[in-house]
Amino acid sequence: MNSRFSFDVIVVGSGIGGLAAAIRADSLGASVCVVEKAAHLGGATAWSGGQVWIGANHVAERMGLDDSEEETLLYVQSIAGAHPELFDPYMAKEWISGAIEAANWFETVGAIEWRLIPNYEDYYYPEAPGSKKNGRYLTGEPIDGIELGENRKLLVDAPHWPIGITYEEMFDWGGVSARDRWDKEIMIDRKLSDTMTFGQGIAAWFVKALFDRSIPVFTEQPVTSLLIESDKVVGIESCTSSGNIEISGEVILATGAHDWSPMLSSQFVGIPTEHGGSLAPTTVAGDGITLGTSAGAATSAVPGTAAPITPGYKLPTPIFEGDSGFRGCYEHCMPHTILVNRNGERFCDDSFHPDVILKAMQLDANGDKPNLPFFMIWDEWHHSRYGLGITGPGKPYVNGLVASASELDSLASQLGINPDGLAATVTDFNVHATLGEDPHFGRGTNHSVRTFRGDGDHHPNPNVGPVIEPPFYGMRMRLLNTGIAAGGLVAGTAGKVLRDDGSEIEGLYAVGECVTRTTGGGAGYNSGYSLSRAMTYGYLAATAIVNSSDD
Ligand SMILES: Cc1cc2nc3c(=O)[nH]c(=O)nc-3n(C[C@H](O)[C@H](O)[C@H](O)COP(=O)(O)OP(=O)(O)OC[C@H]3O[C@@H](n4cnc5c(N)ncnc54)[C@H](O)[C@@H]3O)c2cc1C
Repeated sequence: MNSRFSFDVIVVGSGIGGLAAAIRADSLGASVCVVEKAAHLGGATAWSGGQVWIGANHVAERMGLDDSEEETLLYVQSIAGAHPELFDPYMAKEWISGAIEAANWFETVGAIEWRLIPNYEDYYYPEAPGSKKNGRYLTGEPIDGIELGENRKLLVDAPHWPIGITYEEMFDWGGVSARDRWDKEIMIDRKLSDTMTFGQGIAAWFVKALFDRSIPVFTEQPVTSLLIESDKVVGIESCTSSGNIEISGEVILATGAHDWSPMLSSQFVGIPTEHGGSLAPTTVAGDGITLGTSAGAATSAVPGTAAPITPGYKLPTPIFEGDSGFRGCYEHCMPHTILVNRNGERFCDDSFHPDVILKAMQLDANGDKPNLPFFMIWDEWHHSRYGLGITGPGKPYVNGLVASASELDSLASQLGINPDGLAATVTDFNVHATLGEDPHFGRGTNHSVRTFRGDGDHHPNPNVGPVIEPPFYGMRMRLLNTGIAAGGLVAGTAGKVLRDDGSEIEGLYAVGECVTRTTGGGAGYNSGYSLSRAMTYGYLAATAIVNSSDD
């Protein structure tokens, strides 16, 4: 079966970038549709933590918090510092001021109600110039599923977060992994009312706004090629076993990152497959890059180690349909744990994920990666208090995931770690850890890690405690992508896709994680950049298309 349609704007992908573009285009009077590869809407956005990083935003301003666009740019520029050649100040300015405008506009038209994640520092506060202790992370107000009516079933469910509770509650209850202290009654109530928070909450707001405006949506419809006439993109084609559709119109690619393309991930990130994986939905596979380059688009990349890759693990058996089994791990940031390599040695600030990826991928003099594989080691104190992923505090771990032993050397042998090395490391770590210190790697010194990834009730340091109480536990770790790309299409002003020679490809825009971060944040990353960039460029691209058609 072949079907043909025509719209002013075709949005490819239904993460925050695509949804923002569709809502903005519709509000400006364009006819617009969303074409989505998956059966459900929301993409990696709905699986995310829902932190949207926007300096000098209107919510902080109305709360009287001090910030400015200049300080925001200073921070973005300073944390991109290691690779100044990958930082484009013009594009960074466009993103920073566009984000302030877009966040305000989406709230004004009722597409979302924002709230601030309070007292949550920038990653590199206070060292980085322009950094702030508070005020730059927005997230959505909780939203109940009933608000979406019948369309609730089209929103993807989220496996990674305690959906329903808020960041304030999580922080007040001891932090992300202090689950023995979380208020179970409140959590059950929120589950019953289908209250959505974190990334799923944000996706729910935008999906609701999409359907409130009756914007047509095609699901299970991967865009397989762009329609090109005389170097101009004039539409899309989606060929599936159930038939082909062709849609004519200007195209906004919002297909997300390249996590599930082994070829692109190996090209841009370079983590060996057996040590890697992804927390994003499996439909997030670099399609935008393939589609864009077929029309002559240029690509570029930040170093693989600059992508915000997070330590995690792979469950022996996936749990739900579409589950890859990969899970992120905050428990390695909690006290009474360390990360070690096969020699049993620590190699990084093992509570701060950017340092873990940087050092795990480091090459030795022979060109080998001595810190891969790496392992998390912890003790009964940690087990009884924090659990691990779906395993509650003190409960038995998922079968086949975790090794345990009453002695460290036996644990080391089970995991293939040098027992003498591990014993020496743990002995040395414990001497300082009992005082809450880590003189070798500075575990638990980063303010953002202490707030977000530690146990707020653990003193003197929310991230540091000795590994001392048997039995001991250990698990092989992975470096997991999070729907945040190292490489992508090169896009200029308002997301216009560019060729190698810098010329614009007519009819083609790209937003969100299918666009390289060299245009924007450069090689630097702070949590919340991705959702912020995707929403902003969705807004800007739709505005540019409608404005140019008015000329
Ligand atoms: C566990 C986790 C936590 C995270 N936390 C945060 C956070 O707190 N803050 C933050 O800023 N970022 C966070 N991220 C990253 C963030 O979720 C993504 O970078 C962001 O969602 C990207 O938005 P996007 O609109 O570009 O694409 P996505 O949200 O990835 O959506 C892309 C959509 O395009 C669809 N698609 C792909 N190919 C095609 C095709 N050929 N045709 C049609 N549709 C297609 C996909 O199915 C998907 O629905 C997190 C990610 C994960 C996994």
